[in-house]
Amino acid sequence: MHILLLGSGGREHALAWKIAASPLVTKLWCAPGNAGIAKEAECVALDIADHSSVIDFCRANAVDFVVVGPETPLVAGIVDDLAAAGIKAFGPSKQAAQLEGSKGFTKALCTEFGIPTGAYERFTNAADALAYLRAKGAPIVVKADGLAAGKGVVVAMTMTEAEAAVAMMFDGAFGAAGAEVVIEEFLSGREISFFALSDGETAIALASAQDHKRVFDHDQGPNTGGMGAYSPTPFVTDEIHSQIMARIILPTVAGMKARGTPFRGVLYAGVMLTADGPKLFEYNVRFGDPECQVHMLRMMSDIVPAMLACCDGQLKNFDLRWFPDSALTVVMATKGYPGDYAKGSVIEGLDEAAGIEGVEIFHAGTTSKDGKILANGGRVLNVCATGKTVTEAQARAYRAIDRIKWPQGFCRRDIGSQAVAREKADG
Ligand code: AMP
Repeated sequence: MHILLLGSGGREHALAWKIAASPLVTKLWCAPGNAGIAKEAECVALDIADHSSVIDFCRANAVDFVVVGPETPLVAGIVDDLAAAGIKAFGPSKQAAQLEGSKGFTKALCTEFGIPTGAYERFTNAADALAYLRAKGAPIVVKADGLAAGKGVVVAMTMTEAEAAVAMMFDGAFGAAGAEVVIEEFLSGREISFFALSDGETAIALASAQDHKRVFDHDQGPNTGGMGAYSPTPFVTDEIHSQIMARIILPTVAGMKARGTPFRGVLYAGVMLTADGPKLFEYNVRFGDPECQVHMLRMMSDIVPAMLACCDGQLKNFDLRWFPDSALTVVMATKGYPGDYAKGSVIEGLDEAAGIEGVEIFHAGTTSKDGKILANGGRVLNVCATGKTVTEAQARAYRAIDRIKWPQGFCRRDIGSQAVAREKADG
């Protein structure tokens, strides 16, 4: 089978690593890829926003299956364009990708199908939004409706912050993505992520995984794309798992089908475990980054037939199996991230780091030049490890990090520490 993977992050390196291990695959390309992905796939310099150039490449190379990593091409309808050209692709249609592409769309779906979520209202002008804010009071959450590279959500603890967020969004800080604003009840509780594959009819959950969004240790500093993750997490019990499947995931799949826009791909739910039970606060429509890195390390089943089953409506016959070992990933980022940072610093010691038992290094923003690996983005490396416990995986990952020579990089030192504390308490 000929497969083309789209994307260039740590998520795509992990996917490339897992797809390349499938005996079904005879050739794997990745567009545009990165220096690490180049070890698993042939990287091609395609502009993935240009759907016709992706289709031309598929035709010229007899590509059987396209796997779409990031959300932007999904929301732009690349899966529909590929389907119209007779090319099968993993990921939701443009309509179904609205679950990530429009916060208002998801809130309306929740209302229509009784999916638990915070109270909300949608606005297209600042005056009405401000009146609602004043009626509700702080804390409250202000969200740009569309894709805003993870920056379109303001959790406002005071009215001043909330009013400033409304003004910023209607002033065009996020362009068209902020033309509509959703104002949502502040939900308190433990925040977890929940992942499932869906074929439009049914869904099967992926292993539990927890990410770390803030840039600094002890959840300090601004939000990022994610600074680390581990799996499994002790905070999603069997009971919580069943509640989320029954009250959130399966009603979403049924609702999307009933509307005539079935969801096929990865449903990634952001869920708050509130005193009133789990409540959905957002959907993403693709694998997490960095959660995908730990999912791929723990997935025992071949991922290629699982993704094909999603496309073909055959998931009910499918069983995903997982290794019992834990997996953990620590993101190494360029100093300055998530703000401004420099590109081009040299990273050394990767082979020494990868030599530690259980360690796998997935690249994100890297490039290679004259045999050297250079930093080429904000999030640059995912130093991952497996182990019998999260404690063992964490120790291995940080041992590997200590072998990497990259003075311009940094990482959090506490990835997985809550699970490690739980393992210690449980003896
Ligand atoms: P997002 O960019 O949509 O992932 O949202 C960023 C963060 O905002 C989430 O990870 C949550 O921590 C927080 N958040 C979003 N919605 C709510 C809510 N209704 N209540 C409390 N926190 C929220």
